[in-house]
This record gives sequence, structure tokens and C-alpha cells, in this order.
Amino acid sequence: MRPHCGKYGWYHGFTVVPNVFIHIWRRLFCLKKGTDIMELITTRIKGMEDVVPAESHKWQTVEKIAADTAASYGFREIRIPTFENTELFVRSVGETTDVVQKEMFSVMGRESKFTLRPEGTAGTIRAVLQNGLLNDALPQKVFYILSCFRHEKPQAGRLWEFHQFGAEMVGSSSPAADAEMICLVGSVIERLGLKDIELHINSIGCPHCRAKYYEKLREFFAPHKEELCGTCQSRFEKNPMRILDCKSEVCREIGKDAPLMIDYLCDECREHFETLKGYLDEMGIKYTVDPKIVRGLDYYTKTVFEFITTSIGAQGTVCGGGRYDGLIEEMGGNPTPALGFAMGLERIIMTMEKQGCEFDMPRGCDIYIGAMGAAAQKKAVSLVKALRDEGYHAECDVMGRGVKAQMKYANKIGSAFSMIIGDNELEAGSAKLKNMATGEETEITLGDKFLDVFSDIHMADMFASEE
Ligand code: ATP
Ligand code: MG
Repeated sequence: MRPHCGKYGWYHGFTVVPNVFIHIWRRLFCLKKGTDIMELITTRIKGMEDVVPAESHKWQTVEKIAADTAASYGFREIRIPTFENTELFVRSVGETTDVVQKEMFSVMGRESKFTLRPEGTAGTIRAVLQNGLLNDALPQKVFYILSCFRHEKPQAGRLWEFHQFGAEMVGSSSPAADAEMICLVGSVIERLGLKDIELHINSIGCPHCRAKYYEKLREFFAPHKEELCGTCQSRFEKNPMRILDCKSEVCREIGKDAPLMIDYLCDECREHFETLKGYLDEMGIKYTVDPKIVRGLDYYTKTVFEFITTSIGAQGTVCGGGRYDGLIEEMGGNPTPALGFAMGLERIIMTMEKQGCEFDMPRGCDIYIGAMGAAAQKKAVSLVKALRDEGYHAECDVMGRGVKAQMKYANKIGSAFSMIIGDNELEAGSAKLKNMATGEETEITLGDKFLDVFSDIHMADMFASEE
């Protein structure tokens, strides 16, 4: 943790200061010779991404499949605030984790500290408790799609702001619940059309069996304590398992042959794990037991799992999750078992792109109504309104373009039909409706029957193009 100086200092890598300080800071630093203020204004912050309209259908595809699949498993959506009291994350994610020690974006308010959520579980469980959801039927099953913020080195698949689809199930201690959560992730992956995603599972035990394991780990790391990175030296006493999750090459090398939690499970944890494996076998879900998975967040107990792809390089974990039976009690609730997972949507979309998966294309324009002259423009705006009210995607000119340019635009946006209204058409009370794909033209009334006739022609075209 960086030191924070007084009321407005640095805190976990981010700061909020009054405007006067910002002004001085800008004078001192931003306006230094060579600093291009316009570049600051026009360039997004590294580690953040825009989703432009040509790409947003990919997100809509993934989010819809995730939400529909979660709903089919009985999960309902929960929406939580973007930032919470810092203490919530310190307590739940764990003060010895990389997320809390190095990755949180926090702000110092006047009285308290807030943190942009680095993950969704802590806020979700806070909301479940605060809103009394545990008084309803158990298990409580909720899902979310949200943005998370972590101050990590930006690279492909690793951002400052990223998005997760996640789900939490509260109230069940049965391994059947673990199997159900893993199965839900598997279903989402399958419905997205992803291939070759491997499921790795492990058990990291409960506080009871972990105490014995921690002793063994300390014995193992003791001769190397001085060689460990500074962070891991402080983890040695408090939480030696965290050393196994360290990204430093030196710590990784030292921890290579460390004892494994799976060899120290108590009878209850072992049986839980064996039963889970039995369920997965029964459901035909393939998995690899990977005793090295420890997960980056402290709240996990018993089952932990990751879904991994080799399609997108080093940042290949597309989903991580597990059981966290102690978290709710730790957060002041009655002891209640729970479990969950979170899927990184940037990595999921990258993998889908790499694997050539299909995304739903957004529905285009059904009809473009061009107009020549003020009276025709009035008719056009009223017709597109009527069409839109009937559920069609309809457009007309808002640029004051000539007819030729209007038709060029209709072509560009891929409108299925087009029509031009001018004084002649207004007088005749009908116009030519053009099928843009076939070039076929049909006379269509501009009167009361316009919507009915257009609906028939549109429907016939849809059937024809399906054949
Ligand atoms: P990693 O080991 O890759 O840092 P993690 O264990 O820190 O992952 P979790 O806290 O389990 O990640 O978050 C769940 C998922 O969110 C990850 O499996 C990954 O797909 C995604 N994720 C985590 N951190 C980032 C990030 N900085 N940028 C993009 N996606 C991320
Ligand atoms: Mg991480």
C-alpha cells in the first residue's frame, strides 16, 4: 500500500484532491514544456477501451447468451454500485492479495475511503445481506454483468477497466451446487460456440485443514524467506498460500515444489471434492485436477476452478470461481455457505474472435423513406414514426440531402426497402417501394392501408430470403 499523506493523499494508487491542488499540479506537471494538453483531452486512458458501434453487437451477443443461460438455471440479475467502501474489499478479497495490495483504484473522500470495485462478489454479497435476500427462499441465485477496475500492467486481455459476467449462489453447502455453477459456465461457453476451453479444478480446503497446510508451507518457505519478494515476505506469516499466487519469477521458482493443499485436505473437504468430481463425471463435464490453482482472492474455500483457453496467449483464464463458505460470516452475516464465478468478457470476446465464432448481427433498417420538398418531408417523418410504432426499423433524411444522396445513404446503411416521396407521389397518393436486394419495385399506397401493405410485402420478402 502506498503511504497516503493526510486527507487528500495517495491511496492505493489513486487520489482525489480539491480543484485548487489539481490546478497547481497541472501547472507543475501537465503544462511542463512538451505536454500536449489536447492529447490528454483526445486520448483515452491506457488500460481502458471504447466499444464502437461496429463492435457492440459482439458484447450484446455475449451478454444476452450469458443472461439467458443464467436465467435458465434460475439466476436473477442483481445490479450493484460501481464503488463501495474500501474496507469491504480489504475484508473480503483479503489484505494479503495482489488485488488489495497493488491493484485497487481508491479515492479518499472527506470522511471515508471508497474503491472502484475490483470484482463483483464482495459488492454482491454486501447487497444480498443489506437487502435481506437471505430471508427469502434459499439458495439465493443472482448473476451480474458489470465493469471492474484493477491497476495492473495493461496488455492484451489485461485492462484497468474490464467487464465480468458473474454469478453467486448463496445458501448451499452441497457439492451439487458446485457442480451446478461449473455446469452453468460450461453451458455459457458452449452456447457462445467456444471450443477447446479446459476446466481445471482443485480444492483449497477449509480453515481447519488449511491451518495444518500453512505450517507445512512455512516449513517449506522458511529456508528461502530472504529470497522471496518483499510482498511475499510479509505474506509468509499471515497467509503463506498467497506466495503460490505471486507473479514474481523468483517466488514462482521457489514455490515450484511447494507442498500442495490437496494432499492435506480434511475428510469433509476431501469427500466434498470427490462428490463434486462424481457429479461432473455424471454430467459428462471434462476436467483436469490442477493442484496448483490457489486463486487470487482470499475468500475461497474448498472447490476452486478455472476455465482456460490457449487461443489468446498468456492471459488465457477466461473464468475463475469457487466456494467461499466463510465470507458471509466474515462480512457480519450468519454463517452461510456460498459460491460463485466470474467470467472476463474481454477475454471471452477475444477468444470468440480468434476461434471465428459467430456474433448476432444487429437488425438493420427495414425501410428508408426519402423525400423531395417540404411537404414530402412532412409525410416522410409521419410515415417513419408510424412504422417505428409498429416495430419496424425505419429512417428518413435528417441531413437536408438531395434525393440521390439520400438513396446512396439508404444503400450504405443496408436498408431492406426504400421509397421516395415527392410532389407527384403526394398527389397520386402512392409511391414506388423498392426492394433494395432484388431491385423489384411495387406501387404502395401512402394512405391508411400503407402499414398493412408494407407489412405484407416485408413478410413475403422475409419468407423468400429464408428459402
Ligand atoms: P489473472 O490470474 O488473469 O490475473 P484473476 O485470478 O486475477 O485473473 P479473477 O479475480 O478470478 O481473475 O477474475 C475473473 C476473471 O476476470 C478472470 O478469469 C479474467 O478472465 C478476468 N480478469 C481479471 N483481471 C482482469 C483484467 N485486469 N483485465 C481483463 N480481464 C480480467
Ligand atoms: Mg489478477
